[in-house]
Amino acid sequence: MPITEKPNSWRFEIETPELGNEDAATTALWEQSISSASLSDDESEASGAEILYDGQIFRFISPLRVEAEARWAGDDLCVSIFVRAAFSSQCSRCLEPADIEILDDFMYLYSLRKKTAANRNGATEETDEEYRIVPVTSWKNRLDISEQVWESLVLSLPMRVLCSRECRGICPTCGKSLNSESCSCTPEGRDPRFEKLLATKFDQDTE
Ligand SMILES: [Zn+2]
Ligand SMILES: [Zn+2]
Repeated sequence: MPITEKPNSWRFEIETPELGNEDAATTALWEQSISSASLSDDESEASGAEILYDGQIFRFISPLRVEAEARWAGDDLCVSIFVRAAFSSQCSRCLEPADIEILDDFMYLYSLRKKTAANRNGATEETDEEYRIVPVTSWKNRLDISEQVWESLVLSLPMRVLCSRECRGICPTCGKSLNSESCSCTPEGRDPRFEKLLATKFDQDTE
């Protein structure tokens, strides 16, 4: 079973900078292999290192690298989270294996302010600013950012995986991969460039 939510064994904590000192920043760095061994017993059935997100399977082929930096911004704690990992997935066009790398960073604002408590399900709320607000009840020596690391990771996953930008996909009629061969239905089928135009037009129409 692939991982579909944050594994219980994932723990990412960053030291809280000295209270009120805006010049003090703390940093943390993790690089860990995500294998079945790193998951707890009830999760160990997970063939380890696969995430199922938005209908797509992403299998870790590199360690997960996470960097975080925390700094006070007034009464709030601003934490930047950087995630990097490589996955093997499936090309959305030709269905062949495709390797991808994610490399992304996110800003979170941990805040005691009451207005953020309106957020019922614990999910972070995206604001007009470039950061997401996470309500906290009190400041401790260490801040648990595990949920936000997981969120950053899944938000970095692409909606569509392509083996290459030029992938020609499979013939809708006979199912042959058009990357390696052409098929006799091509004259009936559409030119891929025309297909692209159609897709563009469709996107515009639905906007
Ligand atoms: Zn492909
Ligand atoms: Zn064909």
